[in-house]
Amino acid sequence: MVTRQKYLALERKPINISAFKVPKGNIHIIPNRCKECLYCIELCPNSVLEKSDSINHKGYHYPRVKPGKEDSCVACSMCEWVCPEFAIFVKEVKE
Ligand code: SF4
Ligand code: SF4
Repeated sequence: MVTRQKYLALERKPINISAFKVPKGNIHIIPNRCKECLYCIELCPNSVLEKSDSINHKGYHYPRVKPGKEDSCVACSMCEWVCPEFAIFVKEVKE
């Protein structure tokens, strides 16, 4: 099985990658809509999210941004697309 670390080591980067700007995103979470399916956490390509220690009013642990990962969101919207409860969305940071 190819682990994530091995995959990243094999990943090729375009030679002109410096010509492109990587977008930044701000994550917004609506805790009380979450049902702890974890899709957003599992499918984030940059492992930005984790399960919160707190629970919402339905008793579910909603996601939060991992400490130290505040600047790692690339505004890909994957978490937003996979959330069945519309509990998370991203806004791209315009500089
Ligand atoms: S927008 Fe993309 S990079 Fe940012 S938290 Fe969601 S899945 Fe991760
Ligand atoms: S995908 Fe939505 S419902 Fe599932 S854990 Fe993430 S925020 Fe909660």
